[in-house]
Amino acid sequence: MSQMKTPTTVSCPTCEKLVVWSSASAFRPFCSERCKLIDLGEWAAEEKRIPGPELPPAANNEDDY
Ligand SMILES: [Zn+2]
Repeated sequence: MSQMKTPTTVSCPTCEKLVVWSSASAFRPFCSERCKLIDLGEWAAEEKRIPGPELPPAANNEDDY
């Protein structure tokens, strides 16, 4: 007489860890606040990224030739 109660789970978009979709998971679909911030931070970083010149390792060029 057991009710088959299969919890709905989703995969954390950041680390793909299974997260139970319930009120207990405050950060769903993320597994934790950390993963949520990471995900938000990624798109934020995309906008904030400055297309500046990256310093080439010029000091090592002598060995390259
Ligand atoms: Zn996660």
